[in-house]
Amino acid sequence: MLTQETARKWIDLFIEQILENKDYLSELDTAIGDGDHGNNLARGANALTEALQTKNPETLPDLLKVTGMTLVSKVGGASGPLLGSAFIGMAKASQDNDDLATVLEAGLEGIQKRGKAVAGEKTMVDEWIPVVEAVKSKTLTSAFIEETVEKTKDIKATKGRASYLGDRSIGHIDPGAMSSSYLFKTMMEAGVY
Ligand code: ADP
Ligand code: MG
Ligand code: MG
Repeated sequence: MLTQETARKWIDLFIEQILENKDYLSELDTAIGDGDHGNNLARGANALTEALQTKNPETLPDLLKVTGMTLVSKVGGASGPLLGSAFIGMAKASQDNDDLATVLEAGLEGIQKRGKAVAGEKTMVDEWIPVVEAVKSKTLTSAFIEETVEKTKDIKATKGRASYLGDRSIGHIDPGAMSSSYLFKTMMEAGVY
């Protein structure tokens, strides 16, 4: 269930996952990008820890908004503003809705409004679209989350830095899809789903 309490646990677990997997995320980004994805998100994770401590947002929309604003403003690179836009979209939707699928859908819309990526371009959107669908149909499992990331290997990148590689981007996992998979796995762990 999506409440301030479960969402706070979710974000805390996500921060932990990002910091634990910082090097791995940057490694994935070294293969098809500029090698900074883990470092970018780790900077965001640390800024988020501080922002949540100082601002201590007490409602669900405020919590999601502080998270989004912090990611947009503190993470260099494409991923910060994109993931930040997801949280800002979720914050707005959560003002009058506590249905997880609806809130996540607004998050996906936030990413796509900002980054213009559609399905099949080898971005985090290729993780978000199937996961949002699975949440809607109540079929999400952690195995599904993992399979979805794995599938980004087969895609040729047409958005973001990886698109500069053309066919050579095939065979590699998209780093942003991997970090979004941490977001969804921690969502399950926190009992939001
Ligand atoms: P940068 O590419 O600026 O160094 P990061 O390395 O932090 O930023 O993030 C790269 C990730 O951002 C990619 O793996 C991809 O998932 C995601 N990404 C890049 N461009 C877009 C876009 N237009 N829409 C959605 N996601 C994108
Ligand atoms: Mg990068
Ligand atoms: Mg970069």
